[in-house]
Amino acid sequence: MDHSEMPHRVWQLSERARKLTSSAIREILKVTERPEVISFAGGLPAPATFPAERIRAATDRVLRDAPAAALQYSATEGYLPLREWVAARLSTNGATIRASQVLITTGSQQALDLLGKVLIDPASPVLVETPTYLGALQAFSLYEPQFRQVPTDDEGLVPEALTAALTDGARLIYAQPNFQNPTGRRLPLERRVALAEFARTSAFPVIEDDPYGALDYAGSPLPTLLSMAPDHVVYCGTFSKILAPGLRLGYIVAPEELHFKLVQAKQATDLHTPTLTQRIVYEVIKDGFIDEQIPAVRALYRDQCEAMLAALARHMPTGVSWNRPEGGMFIWVTLPAHIDSMQLLEAAIAQNVAFVPGAPFFASEPQKHLLRLSFVTVPPARIDEGVARLAALIRERI
Ligand code: PMP
Repeated sequence: MDHSEMPHRVWQLSERARKLTSSAIREILKVTERPEVISFAGGLPAPATFPAERIRAATDRVLRDAPAAALQYSATEGYLPLREWVAARLSTNGATIRASQVLITTGSQQALDLLGKVLIDPASPVLVETPTYLGALQAFSLYEPQFRQVPTDDEGLVPEALTAALTDGARLIYAQPNFQNPTGRRLPLERRVALAEFARTSAFPVIEDDPYGALDYAGSPLPTLLSMAPDHVVYCGTFSKILAPGLRLGYIVAPEELHFKLVQAKQATDLHTPTLTQRIVYEVIKDGFIDEQIPAVRALYRDQCEAMLAALARHMPTGVSWNRPEGGMFIWVTLPAHIDSMQLLEAAIAQNVAFVPGAPFFASEPQKHLLRLSFVTVPPARIDEGVARLAALIRERI
């Protein structure tokens, strides 16, 4: 039977499903898949950094040496050697992280979903930075929280703003201390100390989402909140930005009581993260490869960032400003207040250049004159061309 002749059926959807919206970024990415578009929109890691040959060789070894185990169902918590690797990597002089605290997840996006599942009831307050990662807003929204925005400035979250009035009754605070998506900001040491102290004394966990911590251009990382308050911070990490996002491999480190609930939630969601992928990644990293890989990724992104900063300085008209990130993948641009970046995007796509407007990164009261530029996917020569096109469109609107 020809499918077009089948009667179209409309099912009754859940309240939850009816409230679901697509990420503005994913929608934009669809348009930007056209090769002629210079896209500063998606935060897609540079494919040149993917260690494809090592992953191929590791896959061969895993399938040769342990085919039955690698292709079998496995524990929800994850592959023990990989959990031990994560625990050792995150342990510091001051804080020992145990493998029993580590849950391997299907990307750190799943970590956010699981945290929403076990910590958020409908209408419970959830604290997020202003602005924050759009994917976290999406993940938490399914559990129908009431978002409260924590004020930020050029240095990120302002710890003094965490007053009793703002934090009362909250279930969690979601923060990205390193090269935040979307602003590229890094939280200074004094603020980390204050936030860790807040974690120790508050009735709810601080979620430290840290996909970009390793991408610190100077190679001088600041301490994690986890290292400062290991019993009060839940840490989310990922292999997406240092190996490859298609592996979909991340992890959550949580105090044991919460870890246990997260494991139960994950079991209901997908039983476990693919055994094969976990074993392959462990095979790739077990002899220290990550310490060769990270400097190479950092160096590439530092150069790309410099190229974009130089292009912005060269082309942008007066009245447009931006930050100078010390790591990560994003630059946050402030336009004159009357320019709406969503409208600018329409014009930009017509000129084959794309970015992400700032508004979707706000839990409420979106600011419209902001935009996020990713500099990691487009090579420097095209970065200059793309920024020039964008600057011309902004100049027309000033
Ligand atoms: N958190 C943040 C802040 C991110 O930017 C991303 C990816 N864009 C994620 C989590 C999810 O990453 P993944 O699921 O690939 O680990």
